[in-house]
Amino acid sequence: MGSDKNIQTTNLRARLSYHVSATLLGFAVIGLIALMPWDSANSWITDLLWRIGTPKNPDTEIRLIAFDDASAYRYTPISEIIPGPEISGLAKFLVDAQPRNVAFLTSISSNRYTPEELTDFRVAFQKLPHVYLGYDEDALLGQRAPEPLRAYPYFPAFISRDSQSYAADAVSRRVMIEIDSLPSIFSIIANDMNPGFGADRSKYEKNGAALQTYIRWQGPPGTYPISSSRRVLDGDVPASEFKGKTVLIGSLRHMERARDFTFTPFDRNDVAASSLEVAAHGLVTLIRDNGVQHAPALLDLLLAFAIGTLTVNLVLSLSPASGMVFLIGLVGVIACGAWFLLHGPGICLATGLHVFSAVFSYYLVIPFRLVYEYRRRSHYQEKSEWMSQLEELKSNFLSLISHDLKTPVATIQGNAEIALRDSALPQHLRPVIGAIVQTTEHLSQYVESVLDLTRVESAQVPLQKTTKDINSTIREVVDEKRILAAEKNIEIQLQLEPLFSFKYDVRLMKRVLANLLENAIKYCPPHSHVILATKDEGEFVSVSVIDNGPGIAAADREKIFEKFYRGAAQKESAIKGSGLGLYLVKYFVELHKGLVKIQSEVGKGTSFVVQLPVHGAI
Ligand code: ADP
Repeated sequence: MGSDKNIQTTNLRARLSYHVSATLLGFAVIGLIALMPWDSANSWITDLLWRIGTPKNPDTEIRLIAFDDASAYRYTPISEIIPGPEISGLAKFLVDAQPRNVAFLTSISSNRYTPEELTDFRVAFQKLPHVYLGYDEDALLGQRAPEPLRAYPYFPAFISRDSQSYAADAVSRRVMIEIDSLPSIFSIIANDMNPGFGADRSKYEKNGAALQTYIRWQGPPGTYPISSSRRVLDGDVPASEFKGKTVLIGSLRHMERARDFTFTPFDRNDVAASSLEVAAHGLVTLIRDNGVQHAPALLDLLLAFAIGTLTVNLVLSLSPASGMVFLIGLVGVIACGAWFLLHGPGICLATGLHVFSAVFSYYLVIPFRLVYEYRRRSHYQEKSEWMSQLEELKSNFLSLISHDLKTPVATIQGNAEIALRDSALPQHLRPVIGAIVQTTEHLSQYVESVLDLTRVESAQVPLQKTTKDINSTIREVVDEKRILAAEKNIEIQLQLEPLFSFKYDVRLMKRVLANLLENAIKYCPPHSHVILATKDEGEFVSVSVIDNGPGIAAADREKIFEKFYRGAAQKESAIKGSGLGLYLVKYFVELHKGLVKIQSEVGKGTSFVVQLPVHGAI
């Protein structure tokens, strides 16, 4: 017992030290990997999360018009800019349509247009309610609208990608709010359409000179349809479509202006998504003021540590297969959590780092696990070798003792019986000698049981079947126990059906019947009766030992066939016993491929029924 405890404590200590050292190593390694540049992996996963389940939810107040390849046929097909007549034509068309805002997202500068064209623009713009001029990404900061158009607000427009970490892959993810404290055209329009916009500036991200947020996509490319300026000017698009709307106008030339197109989280295909459409997503993000923010770096780091610690410790305790299932589940939970945070409150986690932390910690644990398993196994091996040696020693000891005890006990018992029968024995010595006979009888039964047990445990109980009528074996056993029964005035009744002989091990069945009968006599009150009955049941013969003793409580009934088990009431009582009798009964009956059944009611009595198959019957 003591050594068991020691082994347990050693195991616990070893376990704890593995958990602690694996956790510490995990911490150190995750601390190191967190320093690596995770932006690309994080962006890639975030883009993947956008691609999954983004519902189409465009703002119907926004309309897009583009000078595209179809429009260019009127002018020169190689023109990089929107030709002047196209701009003034669109402005005149929109006067009738009465839009809410008109924004030109293409630089209108004096080195692109002649003074006459610029004057034409002004004349046309004067009839529109709100006109905003944006300069595109080529324009230098500080650039101003050319003289004839000074009256119109002139703002930075497209700066949705750069070569920095969050957009090194040229994917448009951000929308600018300010650059060098100068509001972008998007925040100006957002302010008009949602006056509450931008009140809480702390929720936007500062990035160098820029104040920015991340676009919340309203759907994949194609969510915002773009009308070609040629179709608009040819009267193919009704003016009423633009009434009261915010109209974004830009240039989109597939061949010459590849930069008018950009990658989006949904599509990395060249020229698949237009900058004009991406601008609409950015503008609507600001109007709805539901841009996406990166979670604080510290939170991402803490999450990585938590994921690592959880993985390391669980994988260390789980089976390899469950460990793998756990890892897959954890990656699923990380992905689902990231999805909900992105699509819900608009929080972007460093999911790449988190997934890697889980996977890396999992593989980090494997060598630890191997060492731990190896040590544990060698502990168990040591323990079981030690236990089997002990078991062997115990068996040898018991068998030696029993053999050596058997003869002297039989001699004492025999001599005491002779003395008891001698009429010359003085009267006052009779109870003393009687007690010796009784005690030695118990002792010899005990020795017999222990001997049987040692034989059973060393699997040395071969079945030696002979053909015999079980009724005659019962009679022999009853004859042996008559004196025992007579001492308590217990009557043994036999209700034996005539039976065919069949093959069984007579010695073992005698032990079975003797044990059951002894128990019945032992536990029954004086002046009661015990019935032994046999019955031919076709495939098998049943032998019942029925008494009207104290019965066996339900809680005991399940355990009485266990080795050394004694009923709760018997443990305290004066009735002696080893707790081996029923264990041996069951063992011997099962050796015959038979069954022992028990029916008992507390206070009324017990009946044990032994069923023996009669396949070998003659
Ligand atoms: P022992 O009789 O030496 O205690 P057994 O294995 O023969 O061990 O029996 C186990 C327990 O089953 C007994 O301690 C007793 O509680 C219960 N038991 C067995 N036979 C009877 C019976 N005929 N009547 C009541 N209880 C019994």
